[in-house]
Formats: sequence, structure tokens, C-alpha cells
Amino acid sequence: MQPIMNTYGRLPVTFTHGKGAYLYDTEGKTYLDALSGIAVCGLGHAHPAVTEAIRSQAEKLIHTSNIYGIARQQELAEKLTALSGMDNVFFSNSGAEANEAAFKIARKYGHSKGVNIPTILVMEGAFHGRTLATLTATANPAAQAGFGPLVEGFQRVPFNDLQAAKDAVANNKNIVAIMMEPVQGEGGVTAATDEFMNGIRALCDEQELLLILDEIQTGNARTGRYFAYQYYNWQPDVLTTAKGLGNGVPIGACLAKGKAAEMLQPGNHGSTYGGNPLACGTACTVVDVIKNENYCERVTELSDRIRSGIRNAMEGTQYVSEIRGKGLMIGVKLNTQESAVSIMKSALESGLLLNVTAGNVIRLLPPFVLTNDEADQVVQKVCTQINAFFADQS
Ligand SMILES: *Cc1c(COP(=O)(O)O)cnc(C)c1O
Repeated sequence: MQPIMNTYGRLPVTFTHGKGAYLYDTEGKTYLDALSGIAVCGLGHAHPAVTEAIRSQAEKLIHTSNIYGIARQQELAEKLTALSGMDNVFFSNSGAEANEAAFKIARKYGHSKGVNIPTILVMEGAFHGRTLATLTATANPAAQAGFGPLVEGFQRVPFNDLQAAKDAVANNKNIVAIMMEPVQGEGGVTAATDEFMNGIRALCDEQELLLILDEIQTGNARTGRYFAYQYYNWQPDVLTTAKGLGNGVPIGACLAKGKAAEMLQPGNHGSTYGGNPLACGTACTVVDVIKNENYCERVTELSDRIRSGIRNAMEGTQYVSEIRGKGLMIGVKLNTQESAVSIMKSALESGLLLNVTAGNVIRLLPPFVLTNDEADQVVQKVCTQINAFFADQS
């Protein structure tokens, strides 16, 4: 039997090292990375400032405990609250754990209002993680199969359907919070419409519900704002992030504002590793580099370049039905009923790392450190794969 549990369908490649947007495998082959470890390594591989942050922090202190003060955690909390306008933050080690903290905040908030079965309204197409509660919130029957009983206190409505959310809230007095991703990642790279985002915020205000935004994937400049809600002129009550925050060093964060920020009190929640000096020291540098080197603007430039590049190259073919998502969360929807998962493998063979989600959506999550030249190579390689896929079909 294999010594690693069989939880992943892995591609036949193992990397030894990386630099910027490139990865190198055990055979010495080079790959252009248009996936960034699934939206994690926004600053690319072996970024000198990140490497130095890890090295210098490891030399001083890796871990103490949350029973003591942690200066780097304090520093990161100040940076994140300043740039988000949220009031405070709880640090975890992963995205799912950040969402678990958000659920506990919502439940405590519900009980504080006298609601006995506090319920969180979640969306079709959502992905919120793999722990039991986050799996319940995730809208993937295949991922849930075999793991019942799932967790109580979740109800689901279609994504981008404001009326459905209003009706659900009107018909269920137990609903205390609405949770969504500004751009659904795993669910097929689908952005919430402006109408839906603004409408859900207004609905939460009217009905005194907490708006929980899962920005685990959309956060940390991925969509062209530090957080995707910053495209709008309001804030969520609870905000979770992870992936890009540590550029690969595990860290998650659950930020809260107003009443939501007062829910968790000593003894209510905790994590042994969460917010330790190594993770927070690294994330402080990641946040600084993103801000100081204007990566939000660069993400927008690269996004425009890659999107228009693919659009131009595919002009005249019927292969692509839509290029969607926001910033460097790019979904290229193919005009096919066939599964396009084979593109992942053939792209790998050609030296390009990408992902295929929801059956026929090519998912690109390239690092922000791409040069224009590298962005053009991503376009060219992706289009070569699309052309080959359709040539094979006909
Ligand atoms: C990746 C992801 C998660 C889960 O994060 P983990 O660190 O894998 O637990 C949750 N929500 C969204 C939107 C994600 O993209």
C-alpha cells in the first residue's frame, strides 16, 4: 500500500525548486506556472523578500504560544485591519479554519439575538473547505458523499439570485448570516454580479444579518484590489482569507467588524499554531510587498493583457464561449460538452501549469510577478492547448 493516503488525483510530476513564475522538476524540465499552487504563491516562487522574512524570523523565534503576547501577530493584525477597515482578526493555519471561526462568530451572534438554531445562508457553486462544517457549506454533492451526517445550520440558494436570497431570509427567521465568495473559484471562476454583491449587503443591513465574505482565494490582490469587496464602497461584517497571505507558509485569517468583532471572547476559540511568529512574520512581508510594489495595479494590467490576448488569439474560432472571473482569477470557458480535464495533462507535457474546473473551464491563477513576456507566453501556450483539444475532437 502507498504510504500517503489516497486523497489526491496527482499529475505525474514532482518539482524540486522554483524561481519567480517557473518551476523545475526532478527530470530537469522547466514549467511556466499559471496556477501559483492554486492562488497561493502570488509573489511567485522563492521571492527574495519572502525567503529572507522566513529565514530571519526562523533564526529568532518560530513558535511560542497564544498564551503569550506575539509581536509579529500584533503587527500583522494592524496591517490587515488598516488595509481592510475591519476591526480585529483571529489567525488560523488554513482557509477552512478561518471559515470555522466565521461560523462560530455567526452562531454566537445568532444566540445573542435569541435565535436557537442560527443558520447561515450559503450559495450554490460555493467552495468553503473540507472540514465537516465547511464541507457542509460547500455546494458539491460529490465532495459531501459518504461523510454524513453533515452539520446543521446551513441553507442554500442559487448564486447571483438576489430574489432567492431575499425569499429565503423572509421565510426563515433562523438565518443570521449570509456567506459567499466574491468570485467563486472552485465552482467555475464565476464572479458575483455587482447587483448581487450590493443587494446582499443591503439585505444584511436591513435584516441585521452578518455578511461573511470568503476571500480565501480572492484576497491578497488576486482580483486587482487587496480584497475583492474593495471594488464596492462598503465592508463585510466578517472576512476570511488565507491562500495568498503567506505565499505558501500556512496561515489563515478571520477578520470581523462591529458587533461581529465582539463575539469571540477568551475561552471561545483558539489554535495552537494560529498566528505564530513564523507565519505572521512571513505574511507581514507579503502584505508589505503587495502594497509597496503596487501589485493590485499590476494584477489588473496582467489580467487585461492575458484576457485580451486569449480573446484575440481565439477570434474566428467557436472554441471559447466566455472568459470570466476577475483580475488574475481567469476562467476560460470552452464551448464543449466533453470534459476538458485532459488539457491539464497535455499542458503539463508542454511545460505549462494550469487547472481545469467545473468540467470545461480552464482556470488560470498566475503569479503577479509575471513579466509581459511571460504573460504572452501563458496566452500562447493556453491557446495552443485549446486548439489541440478541439482539433482532437473533430
Ligand atoms: C481554498 C479555499 C478554501 C479552503 O482553504 P484551505 O486552506 O484549503 O482550507 C475555502 N474557501 C475558498 C474560497 C477557497 O478557495
